[in-house]
Amino acid sequence: MPSLNQLSGIEIRDKIRTQEISSEDIVLACFKRINDVESKINAFTEVFEKEAVKRAKEIDKKIKKGEKVGNLAGIPLAVKDLISVKGHQTSAGSKMLNGYISPYDSTVIERLVRKQDAIIIGTTNMDEFAMGSSTESSFYGATYNPWNLKFVPGGSSGGSGAAIAADETILSLGSDTGGSIRCPAAYCGVAGIKPTYGRVSRYGIIAYANSLEQVGPISKTVKDSALVLQNMAGKDPKDATTVDESVENYLDIIENGIEDFTIGIPNEFYGEGLDPDVEKQVRNAIKILEKKGSNIIKVSLPHIEYALPTYYLIAMSEASSNLARFDGIRYGYKTDNTDGNFNEVFSRTRGEGFGPEVRRRIILGTYALSAGYFEMFYIKALKVRTLIRQDFLKAYEKCDVLIGPTMPATAFEIGTKLDDPIQMYLEDILTVPINLAGIPSMSLNCGFASNGMPVGMQIMGKFFKESDIFRTAYVLEQEMKYFKQRPDLGGY
Ligand code: GLN
Repeated sequence: MPSLNQLSGIEIRDKIRTQEISSEDIVLACFKRINDVESKINAFTEVFEKEAVKRAKEIDKKIKKGEKVGNLAGIPLAVKDLISVKGHQTSAGSKMLNGYISPYDSTVIERLVRKQDAIIIGTTNMDEFAMGSSTESSFYGATYNPWNLKFVPGGSSGGSGAAIAADETILSLGSDTGGSIRCPAAYCGVAGIKPTYGRVSRYGIIAYANSLEQVGPISKTVKDSALVLQNMAGKDPKDATTVDESVENYLDIIENGIEDFTIGIPNEFYGEGLDPDVEKQVRNAIKILEKKGSNIIKVSLPHIEYALPTYYLIAMSEASSNLARFDGIRYGYKTDNTDGNFNEVFSRTRGEGFGPEVRRRIILGTYALSAGYFEMFYIKALKVRTLIRQDFLKAYEKCDVLIGPTMPATAFEIGTKLDDPIQMYLEDILTVPINLAGIPSMSLNCGFASNGMPVGMQIMGKFFKESDIFRTAYVLEQEMKYFKQRPDLGGY
């Protein structure tokens, strides 16, 4: 018998509904697991034990009385620490926001927690301001990969990925600006989807690069991701970039199969530098899809060769503007040494409050936006972005979804890339094109490399066709069943 915290969100939902278990049971099971393994993993920046148990008891009471409860009633949810939760610290993994208490809820929390009754069990660790691919740059220390504690969990939503893989939570939320949901999902052997840009509200999310990022679920199974996404997606009057496109009931169509699908394999995702172990597992998954009746074709996305510099130019430019608000006056960290004029105090505060990677990006972004360089760098990057988007649109004229590896290799060892930003940026080569185009993409575990670390594959869909991604991912998951494998951290 698996322990309760090892079950999926759908299983927990059903057991709570039929009163086979209570929400309190599952919440306590997660906290027990957190107590047992968290000292090894460091996935959380804060746990809400008292509050979560209290809320679980309230939900249990409602269910007993036969009162109506939300679609996620009583299910534990861990939230990346840049998603505002009223009355709790929202730190973005930075000293700059250490101690900052959010005065309001983000829309995703409003929907999943206040409306649909999910239970927040804590906030999860992340790279500072979501800048990174390893969750090593957090002010709260690194997070460790549950499959092997010497390895990174991926980033920037590494806490959310690791907490799922270690069964410390049932559901989690991450954010993805250039891969931050898919990278930790791949490295931790779980599922995670970056929705179409405009699908999910960004209201109350601490911004890194507004034109690229989306919040999305990281979960044990494909159905769990569908459950979370369908309950938080949709137009939000508080975020003008959300699109009024109807949100399907993904769970209703997820088992429809893929016999009528054409699946594109983009050449450029299988180029030089791809780890042979990764390629082998992804190609194996493609064979499964072919056997299941879908038509496989080759496609080309010629401009994604330029995606990495294009992404970093745009992301850093937007970051330099977004992070200007951290001035030591309105909120967040302020230097103790307030001698001198405003500029001096402002610079000192930011020099002390931001870590080296954040400072690097603010400087580079400011440079790219400065007079004279703006046209040369920023405007040019926007033009290339359009070309990349057009490549995807062209490919989607012939196919429903595209398949490729999520990351060029499996997780790397802690400390090996931290001092070499270019090496760290190169990790994102296969994830950033998706954010530049704005399309949705899911990472799914498709096997293990010879060193035992999980391999992630990406299923990329058309704009607002997350349903196609879920259908494809579900077929694969049911065939491969890797979601049943768990890292051995002891404790049971
Ligand atoms: N690794 C990428 C970066 O550092 C993506 C981060 C993210 O998606 N938030 O920018």
